Amino acid sequence: MNEGTAEAAANSLSTRRTLIRTKPASPSALGLLELCPLAYLMQTEGMPRKTIGQHPAALLGTAVHAVTSSMIATGIPTPQDVIDTVKKEFLKLAGDPARSSPFARWMLQRYGIEGFVTRRQLVERSAYVIGLASRLPHIPASRRATRAFDGKVPTGSERWLESEKSGAAGKVDLILRTPQGGLKIIDFKTGKIYEEDGQIKRAYILQMAGYARMAEDLEPAANLELELIGKTETWCSPFNQELRSMVDSVIASLRLKLPLGREIHDEQTAVLGEHCARCSSRPSCRVYGTELSRRTLANRDTWNGGSLDVAGQVAEIRVEAGLATLLFEDAGAARARIVGIPEAIVEEANLGVGREFHAYSLGTSEANRDGRFPRNFFVVDTALPGRSAFQATFAATERAST
Ligand code: SF4
Repeated sequence: MNEGTAEAAANSLSTRRTLIRTKPASPSALGLLELCPLAYLMQTEGMPRKTIGQHPAALLGTAVHAVTSSMIATGIPTPQDVIDTVKKEFLKLAGDPARSSPFARWMLQRYGIEGFVTRRQLVERSAYVIGLASRLPHIPASRRATRAFDGKVPTGSERWLESEKSGAAGKVDLILRTPQGGLKIIDFKTGKIYEEDGQIKRAYILQMAGYARMAEDLEPAANLELELIGKTETWCSPFNQELRSMVDSVIASLRLKLPLGREIHDEQTAVLGEHCARCSSRPSCRVYGTELSRRTLANRDTWNGGSLDVAGQVAEIRVEAGLATLLFEDAGAARARIVGIPEAIVEEANLGVGREFHAYSLGTSEANRDGRFPRNFFVVDTALPGRSAFQATFAATERAST
């Protein structure tokens, strides 16, 4: 899929879209399914779509994950080597068009890694890698099957599990055989694994239970232990009836909501809600886009610091030193502005005077407007580049009908 085609697909907000589920249930996306089947489908089917740019923290988490997996196999070098390896992996991801946004690559060119990640963050994340790799057994990169072989669950790092019986498939971070002949299924998370109220995140439980369900289908007699290792906390549990019922019922609802091979319209599967603010597929979601075009700055008076997405028509663009200031008018004729947009992003999104557009995940300095929605937004913060709106994403659109 070339970028131009992806762009055209992403921007066609006026065209009704038909989607088809072709893949088995993905344990890591079952939490998303519960929030919005359309978001699940867009993510798991690898649809060509415009997404919100990855935040550097997420890219760093991916880098840490990759380095941890390799160090389980290779052993742990010196702390400085770990820091250098994490940095190298991060730079590789940030410069990869398939993994990072055009804006992230622009930031990298302009400010280098210092524009994204502080030395302290690198040291902290590297300490996490060392702590995690040293508490896990050293598993040399093996020539053993990475998939199930002879009906046995494959053990080792990054193992693929699939089960026709459960209709699920996915890659597990680590599977170990216990001395008693059971299996331990381990997943690493570089962030928090508990909610503010102390409950383990449901999406993670579903993911672990999904893996266990597949392992159980392969080896019904094996005792299964589950372990999630977060940044500072862990969670362990045997795979029990409660978890089995939970995941079975979510996979059953997947079959019901998104039957394999059946055409589904985006409008029928989209579920709008607060979770949309965290949905990385929203620039390609026609339902969310239509809603965004209708919302005016004035009728969004209860801003509590959440995601800053706006829609409007470009009234004026000024460019200075490679950064654009865009003045726009929303559907209620209110005026607002966005500063610090890299010129290359303006061109890539085809933003010209008179064009309708959507902008996602902007930054603002107007934290205290008595709850009123801001009128001044930014992308690059030239005074403090590390505070920039790294996930800012733009798309030219057509005006939604009212
Ligand atoms: S933006 Fe909202 S409605 Fe659209 S796919 Fe994402 S979660 Fe679903």
